Amino acid sequence: ESTVKDSDLMHIIHVTAEMAPIAKVGGLGDVVTGLARASLSRGHTVDIMLPFYKCISKQQINELELINTYDSYHDGNWIPTSAYRGAVSGISVIFIEPSNEFFKGEHVYGGSYNELEAYLFFSRACLEWMQVTGTQPEIIHVHEWQIGALPLLYWDMYRYLSLTKPRIVLTIHNMEHYGECRQEQLSKCGLDGSMYATTEKAVDDRTIGHNPERLCLLKGGIVYSNAVVYYGVLNGIDTAMWNPATDVFLPAKFDAQKIEGKKLCKYYIQKGLGLATESITSSNHVPDATVKVPLVVCITRLVPQKGLHLITHALKRVEELGGQMIVLGKASDGRVEGEFKRLADLHNRGPSIRILLMYSEELSHMLYAAADMVLVPSMYEPCGLSQMIGMRYGSILKVPVVRKTGGLADTVFDMDDQSNREMANGFVFEGIDEGSLNWALDRAFAYYKDKPDEWNGIVKKIMKIDNSWNNTAGKYIEIYNSVRVRS
Ligand code: ADP
Repeated sequence: ESTVKDSDLMHIIHVTAEMAPIAKVGGLGDVVTGLARASLSRGHTVDIMLPFYKCISKQQINELELINTYDSYHDGNWIPTSAYRGAVSGISVIFIEPSNEFFKGEHVYGGSYNELEAYLFFSRACLEWMQVTGTQPEIIHVHEWQIGALPLLYWDMYRYLSLTKPRIVLTIHNMEHYGECRQEQLSKCGLDGSMYATTEKAVDDRTIGHNPERLCLLKGGIVYSNAVVYYGVLNGIDTAMWNPATDVFLPAKFDAQKIEGKKLCKYYIQKGLGLATESITSSNHVPDATVKVPLVVCITRLVPQKGLHLITHALKRVEELGGQMIVLGKASDGRVEGEFKRLADLHNRGPSIRILLMYSEELSHMLYAAADMVLVPSMYEPCGLSQMIGMRYGSILKVPVVRKTGGLADTVFDMDDQSNREMANGFVFEGIDEGSLNWALDRAFAYYKDKPDEWNGIVKKIMKIDNSWNNTAGKYIEIYNSVRVRS
């Protein structure tokens, strides 16, 4: 954990739709938890405000208690709302629970209530809570389009009530989603939606596919925030949550000095999923070096951004090359889900491919630990955490770099790049075609089989790479300091 302590301390409240591990869908959840914990360990006071989704398992929350009830506005009514406080991974979380249907679905997203309106309600309910409890943090850090209306509500409404101290920082993790919103929907949170229908406010005329008459919550958030962070800051991973030496989900622990546990994790996964196993010699639990089958894993939301055609192609190629591959993924689109279900039916009884169509935190930890290679074939990837987690768990990566500026290009360097031997930690490819992927896979498999010593050396090296928040939390603190108001 960080030993850096800041001298100029402040109170930071994150307002977010996701938080790992209790309400995580993708990287957003990891980033919020990791940054909050890093700020906390530097000495700041940190709270996370989260909708009290019905799907949150209460066992994962410590010291959960009701702190107050209040009313928050929605569409002409004041909705009785409860605020709870609890601790998750040592971080204080304030859960907002409206008494209406909002957030009462089976999953974090995709319930039968109106999602956009639910987050508009939540954005206001968080400010309303600060107002009624007299809570004035220096920084309100909002994330993604879901909380995009909060800066508008703050500067055009709550600032005229009793909130004066907070300044707003917005982080955009993924521009693909921008919160398209009708004027009358925005009006439901108590602002006059028609007032925001200009490009100076919440209309974004440049977004491809965006209906120019619609408001864009993310655009509004950008205009109304004091600072906007858009991948200027590389994310980190929470190294307490992602630590192969202590990870409770792993059947055997390991680290760069004692790597044997990783082989055992691979064996457990192969056995557990009915894949052909490498024989483990009974004496020392080290797999027989003569049966070397590289295991490739891909853990991802199954959406076009993540390179779906390359994932399906990789299944074919890995099988041809005599390797094994496991995909752990969740699709939100029915057609994509159908396609992967078909592939699962085709492969899941064979000896080498498994396609697991679900979200599982536990399995994701086991798979990162078991993997020889983590495949991240994203079309674009502003930061990407999967490759960082893969490295920490000793898996060598294959990553396409479509946009050299993306986070993947900043964290993964090719093994065959002679000019950069020091940094080498993966197999990078630039094209988005199947040939480019083949080239990377073929090279990785050849390395794995022909140069085992070199491979093992790299595995140990990448496990020691510091992708923790220690490196980057300080950049966020600087941003907070640049906008905060000193009393
Ligand atoms: P994104 O935020 O675009 O989804 P990132 O690479 O930044 O991509 O973060 C993805 C995070 O979500 C990683 O922690 C990854 O392990 C996790 N994840 C993605 N899909 C699943 C799944 N089906 N089951 C468990 N964890 C998943």
